[in-house]
Amino acid sequence: MGFVRLKKGRDKLSKNFHPWVYSQAIDKAEGVKSGDIVKVLDSENNFIAYGFYNNSSKIALRLIEWNERKSINREWFESKIESAICYRKFLSLDSKTNCYRLIFGEADGLPGIVLDKYSNYLVIQLSLKALETYIEMIIDIIVKKLNPDGIYLIVDKEMATKENIKLKDKVVYGSIPDEIELIENGIKYIVNVKAGQKTGFFIDQRNNREIIRKYSENKSVLDVFCYSGGFSLNATYAGARFVYSLDSSKEAISLLEKNFKLNNFNVPEIYNDDAFVSLRNLLKNGEKYDVIVLDPPKLSKRDKDKENAMRAYKDLNMQAMRLLNKNGILFTFSCSGNISREDLKKIVAWAAIDSQRSVKIVENLFQSEDHPIKLSYPESEYLKGFVCFVE
Ligand code: SAH
Repeated sequence: MGFVRLKKGRDKLSKNFHPWVYSQAIDKAEGVKSGDIVKVLDSENNFIAYGFYNNSSKIALRLIEWNERKSINREWFESKIESAICYRKFLSLDSKTNCYRLIFGEADGLPGIVLDKYSNYLVIQLSLKALETYIEMIIDIIVKKLNPDGIYLIVDKEMATKENIKLKDKVVYGSIPDEIELIENGIKYIVNVKAGQKTGFFIDQRNNREIIRKYSENKSVLDVFCYSGGFSLNATYAGARFVYSLDSSKEAISLLEKNFKLNNFNVPEIYNDDAFVSLRNLLKNGEKYDVIVLDPPKLSKRDKDKENAMRAYKDLNMQAMRLLNKNGILFTFSCSGNISREDLKKIVAWAAIDSQRSVKIVENLFQSEDHPIKLSYPESEYLKGFVCFVE
C-alpha cells in the first residue's frame, strides 16, 4: 500500500479524527493513484490513518480508519454499516416515518456514501471514486442486512466530474417503482427517486416541517422553495387559513399537487417562478403573509461563492421580512456547508436592519437527527435555521 505524508504542522485535525485533508497539507504521495486506499503519515512517518485518496480533488484525502491494525475489507464495511443502522434503531424513527437516512457519509465514518430508506426501497448515493471498487460488496452487505425490495444507485452529479466516477444512475437490486409512497408524521408523500432532486426527498427537514404546525393555525403561509410541498402540507394539516407555494421547478410543483390530492387537502395557490423575482412582485402587489418559509437550495457551493451567497441570502430574508405582517413568523434556512449558524444570524440581522423590522429568534433549527452532527467533524452540521418573530 502506498503512502501519503502530510506537511509538518498540518496533521493536528487528522490526529483528532477529522476526516478531511486538503491537498495543500500534503508533502509527498508515493506509490498511490486516485481512487486508492492509502496510508496517511505525519511528517515523521508515523501512521495517522487510512484514507481514500484523490489527487484531483481539493479534499485529497478522506480518512476512514485510525487503527493501523485494521484492514479495510468486507468485515470493516460491515461493521461501519452496522454501527450506522444501530444509531438509527436507537432513534426509533419507525413510529413517525418510513423514510430516513441510514448512512450519512463522513458523519457515519463512511465518506462518499449516503443511504436513504424510502419505505422498503433504498437509494444509495456515491460521491467518491475510491468506492467504485467496493460498491458491489457494499450493496451485497446492505441487501443481507436490510432485505429491501429494491436499491437505486445515484452518482452525485457534482462529484462525478470532480472525481471522474464512471458509474451511472441505475437500479442495482430488485426493482424500483416510478412512484414510492411515503408517510412522515401522518402526511403522505409521493417520491420519485429516479427523477427527483437529491435522492428524491429532503429528508433532513422532517423535524422542521413538523415544527411549522405550531405556528400555522388560521394563518396565511407562504412557502418559498417548496419542492414537493413539505412545509405547505404541514401548514395545511395544522389548519392554515391560506397556503401559497412557490418553486421554480415544474416537476416539483407537479409533485406538490399530487401530494395535496393524495392527502385530500385543497391544493394551495401556486407560484411557479423564480423566488428572487417573485418575492419582489408580491411586494409590489401589496401582498402580506403571517408566516413565510425560506428554504433555498445550497447558494454557496465553494468558498469563493460565499460572499455573493451571503448577499443573496440577505436579499431573500429582507424581501420576506417586508412581506410579513406585524408579529409575523419567518422560518429561514441555509444548507450551505460554508455558511455557519453565526453567518446566518448575521444575514438575518442585516435583513432586519434594511427592512426596518425588529426581529427575535424564537427557535434554532437543525437537520433531523438521522443526519448526525459528529463532533470530530463540525462540517456535518450543514443545515442551520431559525424561527424568527418579526415585529
Ligand atoms: N422545503 C422543501 C425543500 C426545498 S429544496 C421540502 O421541505 O421538501 C429547494 C427548492 O428550491 C427546490 O425545490 C428547487 O426546485 C427550488 N429552487 C431552486 N432555485 C430556485 C429559485 N431561484 N426560485 C425558486 N425556487 C428555486
